[in-house]
Amino acid sequence: MAKYSSKINKIRTFALSLVFVGFIIMYVGIFFRSSVLLMSVFMLLGVLSIMLSTAVYFWIGMLSTKAVKVICPNCEKPTKVLGRVDMCMHCREPLTLDKNLEGKEFDESYNRKSVRQALKQK
Ligand SMILES: [Zn+2]
Repeated sequence: MAKYSSKINKIRTFALSLVFVGFIIMYVGIFFRSSVLLMSVFMLLGVLSIMLSTAVYFWIGMLSTKAVKVICPNCEKPTKVLGRVDMCMHCREPLTLDKNLEGKEFDESYNRKSVRQALKQK
């Protein structure tokens, strides 16, 4: 399979970059102090960008509640699976909740009791 990172992590990175873009736009606006209109436009765009990132963060929160918490069979850390196929946030192990997509070997390790019990002790 092609390389891809955990969906939630991707969206989180996007939201974070929006905050930075917003601040950069507002910073650029300072250079246009001579024009009130231009500066207002830059400030407005910056604020919009930051507001959008807040919305995206909110969206991540909504997605996180939908995501299924699982224990990664590879690194034994808790991670979240979003949708049918997602990736472990820690070790990038591909994880799936769809039985049709699951390989038998994968299924067995996924349900290994020893893995889950080992984590509970931590
Ligand atoms: Zn993992």
